[in-house]
Amino acid sequence: MTELNQIKNLGIKGISILNKMGIYSVEELLEFYPFRYEELKKSDISTLKINDKIVIDGIVETTPSVYFFKRRMDRMTFKLNTGHNLYQISIFNRGFLKPKLMPGTKITVIGKLERKTGITAYDIKFGLIEEEKITPIYHTIYGVTEKQIRRWIEKALDLNINFTNQLPYFIEEQYHFLPKNDCIKAVHQPTDMNYLKLVLRQLKYEELFLFMLKMNYLKLNKTNKIGLKRNIPWSKIEEFVSKLPFPLTPDQNKCVKVIFEDLNNPQRMNRLLQGDVGSGKTIISFIAIYMNFLSHYQSALMAPTEILANQHYNNVQKILEPWGVKAVLLTGKTKAKEKKEILKGLNDGTIDVIIGTHALFTDDVIYKNLGLVITDEQHRFGVNQRSNLKNKGITPDILYMSATPIPRTYALTLYGDMDVSSIHTMPSGRKPVITTLKSEKEIKDVLTEMYRELKLNHQVYVIAPLIEESDKMDLKNVFELETNMNKAFGKLYKIGVLHGKMTNQEKDEVMTKFKNNEIQILISTTVIEVGVDVENATMMVIFDSFRFGLSALHQLRGRVGRNEIQSYCILVSNYETERLKILTKTNDGFKISEEDFLLRGSGDLFGSKQSGDMVFKIANLKSDYSLLLKAKEDSELFLKNPSDDERSKFLINYVEKYSQLD
Ligand code: ADP
Ligand code: MG
Repeated sequence: MTELNQIKNLGIKGISILNKMGIYSVEELLEFYPFRYEELKKSDISTLKINDKIVIDGIVETTPSVYFFKRRMDRMTFKLNTGHNLYQISIFNRGFLKPKLMPGTKITVIGKLERKTGITAYDIKFGLIEEEKITPIYHTIYGVTEKQIRRWIEKALDLNINFTNQLPYFIEEQYHFLPKNDCIKAVHQPTDMNYLKLVLRQLKYEELFLFMLKMNYLKLNKTNKIGLKRNIPWSKIEEFVSKLPFPLTPDQNKCVKVIFEDLNNPQRMNRLLQGDVGSGKTIISFIAIYMNFLSHYQSALMAPTEILANQHYNNVQKILEPWGVKAVLLTGKTKAKEKKEILKGLNDGTIDVIIGTHALFTDDVIYKNLGLVITDEQHRFGVNQRSNLKNKGITPDILYMSATPIPRTYALTLYGDMDVSSIHTMPSGRKPVITTLKSEKEIKDVLTEMYRELKLNHQVYVIAPLIEESDKMDLKNVFELETNMNKAFGKLYKIGVLHGKMTNQEKDEVMTKFKNNEIQILISTTVIEVGVDVENATMMVIFDSFRFGLSALHQLRGRVGRNEIQSYCILVSNYETERLKILTKTNDGFKISEEDFLLRGSGDLFGSKQSGDMVFKIANLKSDYSLLLKAKEDSELFLKNPSDDERSKFLINYVEKYSQLD
């Protein structure tokens, strides 16, 4: 690995941005691939129809005029002379370019042909089109610009880092693969579209092969994994379930039975429990913890956020402690003295269950006899973190919970090493959330509906887009929303703000206030996405909803409608309303995830840019599905009969290491 400070002029700020993006070495930077390419090729005017995309160059003919409207919006118009035609160009929110667009300037316009000689431009580039040019487009997050990323990558390429091919020789030969170094260069600085296509296919295949190799290896070795022998009396579980404050749904009952069998079976459990938000997965995990307790082992329940860990802890105290289960909470906030006691209790076995966040992964946490590990919202955790659970020579059973269901066909391919249980039905008494779609023009309606709920002493979530995003598209950020909400409701109700730049402590404070109804309107970025339960919140307003995947929106919406009171979700969006309509029609997370998958590939299913095992650098599970199947077959073939050369040994070693992680 080559350190980032080898890159000229990157600076501390650049390094810190890259770190935030999960990039810690030059190699990782070079494997930060463009997500698409723009091919700048002059349009053939003779074949263009109205509404087609057009790329054209020429000379500015008239001084641009700029009109301002709304707040911070403008529209600029001018005439462009192409030598054949005079086009009327109009473009939004680029008024600041006016001084650079004086008559005589040579420019290239990319946009949409509105009428025979009228273009709405999305972009203007200076200079004429020279030749066919392919521009890589990168995801820009954390305030980084396209230009910066391109320059950094250019400098990184200058370092001539050596990448070696990793795939088995027989595969390299079979598919006529290129040297990896050539691929890395071409993917960032493509010169030829056909060559680029080959390179992309190779890089995607490589990624999918390594992924399937791991999955297949786990599957092959699963049957040999000896777990714990237990002897749990079913009657005790029946008694426990009968004393719960509510009867279990049929699906919940099924899951309980399956987990009971898994645990009693000496083979190790490796089960994914998937079910829609609010379908009642948590109680199943508690029952599993009770089973594990009855067979005298410790349990660990891991949640991705402190808010969620706290919530689980409170519930465990209510539901499990009366049965003699000793529970503790360990998070980043736990005081040193208290932590010391917890560590002691874990080590000597006086603690039966520990609930926590990433703090559970630190090196000093050593269990006496950890028999069950449960991960909530499993897609949020990476494999590496699970590896740090120190246990005394025992292989614990494992239960993952996820509210982002994976369509069945994909689940079988991807989670080949896991068993999957699904909850399809919601607890009774739940009313489906009523979802409506509004444009920004209808903001008055939105406010009226909010007021209606607030007057009933209910609370409202308002979701704003990420504040890290660039404001290029004039997205309202959290603070602008806060100002506007204060104008509308500030005299009557308290408004709180929650966003990713706040410390955990600040977030918890705001969340607690919301829970206690000291705040009635909570404006937030998607940090509240997972698991939080505030029953009195009955409305969710999501601005710029088009920016989210359907599954993410469905998860957000799952924050309301958590009891028998009717709840509402308002999606505010000026774009992509067709796609969003699906949400107004169904509340079935499985259906929605299927749609999402078809529309977007894997991206959103696994929690967008979060860490997780399923985040691919370049492959897309949907559009590259046939490549995935090939990689699956090939990796099976390889595992059945690995050859004896260095590369094969390296690969086997790599998957062995991976499989030992959990
Ligand atoms: P999720 O699957 O999203 O984790 P939770 O486990 O948090 O959902 O359940 C949501 C709410 O439903 C909780 O308040 C829980 O107590 C309640 N609940 C769970 N199962 C049932 C049931 N069978 N009947 C009634 N309420 C239930
Ligand atoms: Mg949950």
